Amino acid sequence: MGKTILVAGAGHGGLAAAADLARKGFDVTLLEQKAEDALGYDWTDIFAPGALIAAGVPYPSKSLYTYKENMTFFPPAQSVMLTQRVPQDELEIKMERRDIYAHLIAHAKRCGVKFRFETAVTAPLLLGSRVCGVYAGEEKIYADLVIDACGMDSPLRTALPDVCGVEKEIGENNVAYVYRAFYARTGDFEPAHNYEVYILHQGRKEVAWVATEPDYADVLIVRFEPFGADEVAAVLDDLRKTNPHIGTTVARGGQFAKIPVRQPLSMLVADGYAAIGDSAFMTVPLIGSGIANALKASHILSETVVADKDCAFTAESLWKYQTGYYKLLGAGYAAMACLKNACLTMEPAEVDFLFERGILTEKEITITANTTNLQSMLKLSVKEFVERAKKVCTDKILLTKILRIASQIASATALCAMLPKAWSPQNVRKWVASYNAFFSRKQK
Ligand SMILES: Cc1cc2nc3c(=O)[nH]c(=O)nc-3n(C[C@H](O)[C@H](O)[C@H](O)COP(=O)(O)OP(=O)(O)OC[C@H]3O[C@@H](n4cnc5c(N)ncnc54)[C@H](O)[C@@H]3O)c2cc1C
Repeated sequence: MGKTILVAGAGHGGLAAAADLARKGFDVTLLEQKAEDALGYDWTDIFAPGALIAAGVPYPSKSLYTYKENMTFFPPAQSVMLTQRVPQDELEIKMERRDIYAHLIAHAKRCGVKFRFETAVTAPLLLGSRVCGVYAGEEKIYADLVIDACGMDSPLRTALPDVCGVEKEIGENNVAYVYRAFYARTGDFEPAHNYEVYILHQGRKEVAWVATEPDYADVLIVRFEPFGADEVAAVLDDLRKTNPHIGTTVARGGQFAKIPVRQPLSMLVADGYAAIGDSAFMTVPLIGSGIANALKASHILSETVVADKDCAFTAESLWKYQTGYYKLLGAGYAAMACLKNACLTMEPAEVDFLFERGILTEKEITITANTTNLQSMLKLSVKEFVERAKKVCTDKILLTKILRIASQIASATALCAMLPKAWSPQNVRKWVASYNAFFSRKQK
């Protein structure tokens, strides 16, 4: 075989795809801007371990992970609460991000991937509209295929020629701005729930969590616009009213970061190019988890590459990656993105109403990285549906909003069902234009 593949960025999906393709005989090099020991963040991540198996990556040693605890959700008024009940066989694991990277990198090295750390990719190297490698500063590095795992602001995706049809911009209200830090615990206060999540915290478009561990309180603050240290201090002051054990010493983390939370990228491939992970907006739109999806996508991508017997790696021969991803995950997340967009238009009183009247229950808030579509989240019997509908009918404005959301979800589902199964430049272009137009309308 001997065809050369470059993977740009040591993202989870990029690492897993690199390993699988090297194992299958390709000459794979991974370029990562950071040093090997500087990858990731100083905190833990939660993901579905089955995704490792789906990606052909061995399970990590038991000493490296624990299981995620159920989350308890509070509406803005904090008048009631709902606790998740994740079934035992669907529990996600919690693992240090650095250990996840170390595990994936060790596996990739065993599979024969060559690594170049501290090598920042700066732009795609183009031959006409075909990606034939990357620039790393002045250096030109050629390859038969480039896999873009550089994250949401990828310098590759955002510099592709327009003719490729790959979206460059992420779009309004589609970035979650995040601050996360582990604060040393103070005093002997024990919270009633170890993992508290505050929705529309203090009536703002904000989600905050406090996950209490034996030695520290893990605090996460999410907003849809950038914020700074002063705002963090104000949120912490508020959280300490009900969680006085959150100390003032940052034991770990203490960083700002960004997560894409939107519908998947409308066009995952171009000639000589495929996007994976956050570069392709593969996170679960409602919660921002992206590790399991990037891992699962790596398997679809590597199968597609192997199936391309001529090693043409054109948009046409890589199209199966897009159809496979949308079938397994993308269509479900596109529909879920409509719900996320709608949640951003909810008033605090409406969210309180949904919690207090039992319209939202523990069933719906038991959303995990295994929740790949809304059907698996809203498992309602006819009786339950009728009961909830009756309750919503008491608030006409909310009812109108919910009916509009339902119609948007149905449209997104229908649109994804119309994704061309077979490659045709004209049909694909048309579909991409409709998908992009649909979601830009929804964001207004
Ligand atoms: C605070 C926070 C908490 C999160 N928690 C979870 C969680 O619990 N569970 C979960 O599933 N997901 C979580 N996520 C999301 C998750 O991090 C991503 O979805 C996942 O990492 C997949 O992203 P990625 O690997 O594609 O991209 P990234 O994680 O962004 O990785 C991209 C890699 O590319 C490198 N890179 C970037 N630009 C260049 C360049 N020009 N040249 C070379 N290399 C480059 C970067 O250094 C980085 O190593 C969280 C994200 C944040 C910010």
